Amino acid sequence: MSRPAAMIINLDALRHNLSIAKRCSPLSKIVAVLKANAYGHGAVEVAFAIQDHVEMFAVSSIEEAMQLREAGLAKPVLLLEGCFSASELNLASKHDFSVVFHSEYQINALEKQTLDKPLSAWLKIDTGMHRLGIYASSGLRLYQRLKDSDKTQNVVTLMTHMASADLLNEPYTEQQLTEFKQVKKAIIANGERQISTSIGNSGTILGWPEGRSDYIRPGIMLYGLSPFNEAHPDADQLQPVMTLQSKIIAIRNIDAGERVGYGSTWQAQQPSRVATVAIGYGDGYPRNAKSGTPVLVREKRAYLAGRVSMDMLSIDITHIPEVRIGDTVTLWGESLSANEVANWADTIGYELVTRMPLRVPKTYLLSESGQ
Ligand SMILES: *Cc1c(COP(=O)(O)O)cnc(C)c1O
Repeated sequence: MSRPAAMIINLDALRHNLSIAKRCSPLSKIVAVLKANAYGHGAVEVAFAIQDHVEMFAVSSIEEAMQLREAGLAKPVLLLEGCFSASELNLASKHDFSVVFHSEYQINALEKQTLDKPLSAWLKIDTGMHRLGIYASSGLRLYQRLKDSDKTQNVVTLMTHMASADLLNEPYTEQQLTEFKQVKKAIIANGERQISTSIGNSGTILGWPEGRSDYIRPGIMLYGLSPFNEAHPDADQLQPVMTLQSKIIAIRNIDAGERVGYGSTWQAQQPSRVATVAIGYGDGYPRNAKSGTPVLVREKRAYLAGRVSMDMLSIDITHIPEVRIGDTVTLWGESLSANEVANWADTIGYELVTRMPLRVPKTYLLSESGQ
């Protein structure tokens, strides 16, 4: 038997989550965000599972985009950070990658480049995130420049990104949407008849119907994690795609007052039964998860006891006497969201799933009928 730390990636859940994005914004085309190896879920496998149900994919770099092409995926791919050098522009046009232009220097570089064929350009407006994007005041001028360029295809998609869409009562989102609308209006006033737009990340898709656009860009919701901290009727129907599990490889009884793990930080308050699970921070489980972080064993919650080691962690199973060596322990997945574990480790579910190391093997589940 091999080491039991493993991920199960449920592609049926992925498709279910995609259907929720569709339901929230039925007229929009879907750009499935697969950056960072599909948030740790495996970009190629995820892409194959949903390619017939989405318009395009989005990634962060030409290397990530090429990985999809080399695997045989033919859908358009959006480069969210644009090209990092002028030489990438040729590769982008050749392979049908849409390119985000977030700064004027990138448009200057495009103009100087010789391309075999025009590429699909997306112009990013900074409506308040202040990370990437040109200012709204330059929107019309640079949109027109991209439109008029013989290096770009006829349609230029106008996009922006929301800073606080995960906060359902934060008026900043409305402010950003208003700013975006104004840029769009100026472009239309200048004679453009129809304009293609893209706004929504998961928080916007689920929480802000007024932010609907021609292309939506769901990321975290596809993987079954809610972008919200609070309950939400649609987000609460998402199904986690990744399950992280391992097995119990040792069990011991300890007296009250005995301590567990490095630094001896956890002390038994009563005679206790403690199990050792073969998974640790070397397998992507967060080392800073505090004692008390829940795990699942025999469909019950047990709790982290003491510090997480590289390859192992300990859990208090005193209250579940039926637990045995060889039992499966779920670190996150169905009935225990990575978001909940992340709270115990001062981070977010996004980070936990995305930084999973290659060391942990993935098994993909897809039912025959799952179309
Ligand atoms: C990552 C990303 C998304 C997806 O965001 P989620 O919150 O994961 O849905 C959408 N748009 C851009 C520009 C991104 O970088």
